[in-house]
Amino acid sequence: MRSNIKLGTIHGIEIGLHYSWFIIAALIVFSLGEHFRQVNRNWSPVEVWTTALFTAVLFFVTLLAHELSHSLVAQARGLKVKAITLFALGGVSQIEDEATDAKTEFWVAIAGPIASLIIGFGCVALAAALGWHPSAEPRTGVTAVLVWLGYINVGLGLFNLIPGFPLDGGRVFRAIVWAITKNADRSTRIAARVGQVVAFLFILGGLWSFFRGAGFNGLWTAFIGWFLMDAAQASYAQVDVAAAFRGVRVSDVMSHDCAIVNRDMSLQEFVNTYVLRSGERCFAVEDHGRFVGLITLRDVGAVPRDRWERTTVREAMRPLEELHVITPDAQVLDALKLMAGNDINQLPVVANGALQGIVSRSHLMQLLQARSDLQPAGAHYPPFHRMKQRGVTP
Ligand SMILES: [Zn+2]
Repeated sequence: MRSNIKLGTIHGIEIGLHYSWFIIAALIVFSLGEHFRQVNRNWSPVEVWTTALFTAVLFFVTLLAHELSHSLVAQARGLKVKAITLFALGGVSQIEDEATDAKTEFWVAIAGPIASLIIGFGCVALAAALGWHPSAEPRTGVTAVLVWLGYINVGLGLFNLIPGFPLDGGRVFRAIVWAITKNADRSTRIAARVGQVVAFLFILGGLWSFFRGAGFNGLWTAFIGWFLMDAAQASYAQVDVAAAFRGVRVSDVMSHDCAIVNRDMSLQEFVNTYVLRSGERCFAVEDHGRFVGLITLRDVGAVPRDRWERTTVREAMRPLEELHVITPDAQVLDALKLMAGNDINQLPVVANGALQGIVSRSHLMQLLQARSDLQPAGAHYPPFHRMKQRGVTP
């Protein structure tokens, strides 16, 4: 989840909004406005809508507090946090490192729900102190805002404690299983399976209540279940990727089929001699044996066709300074992280200024696919570096 609108940074963490957040914000403002209008008939329209808008903004602040709690605890325990993005279904903290021990995982995961519960009960207590009684609708704007924020935050805190991985509760559950089994991969698999069961119950319950006349709420529950199911499956698959590539170095899996192009060649000549004949999609540009950049079909396409004759490869390529590169002895998992974090599909592998090869997401996924096609689930695969010695990988 990448943010579309950057709001600023807190403690070195980028705070951003995904476009989908506006849909939920508008939905909150309208449903709240409608609610306030019906229960407080003496309020003016201006009062109704400013209260609704103000509540939505404060809701956003409390969501951010939830995510910040995860992130700040993660930072305090030595993990790097890149960004927090708020989107339609809440927020995500982009924590770059995986927790290395069960205790860290536990505290990072539970910090968010604790923050929501504290905020929620705090708001309700404040409303009560200001004269609101639980048996009645809040009468003033301030207590109305506090009560709504109180209920929604308590709800949010409790919902996130459901043990459906990758919800916070699922992570807490995973940390506990991890502490007991002392096996990180196994605990993720167990938590992901439990998460799938929980997600399935959400879908079932949502559909059941929809057909019993619950309408939108039923569908919404089923939709959340579907989202959780997807996320649980993805985390299960991620464990397989991590387990397969743990300890494997980039040099063991990189491909060498990146053709070398001279930087002074015209684009027309490049297209005629390389692109149309090799069918490859990626080309390394060299200058006297030094790797200076990459040129892809997309870069060529960005130059109008009638200028190909007069444009050199060097002018159209992406220079080395603008590329993310990796060294041959780096871990494959770090390469995957780098690609995912920057939304790129390939990394040039460079040592001493010379291109050694290319590592790409699609190539890595093909390797994984080949392994799982050849061997039944749960079998022990030979590590990649041993396969290389036998000459299986190029
Ligand atoms: Zn959370």
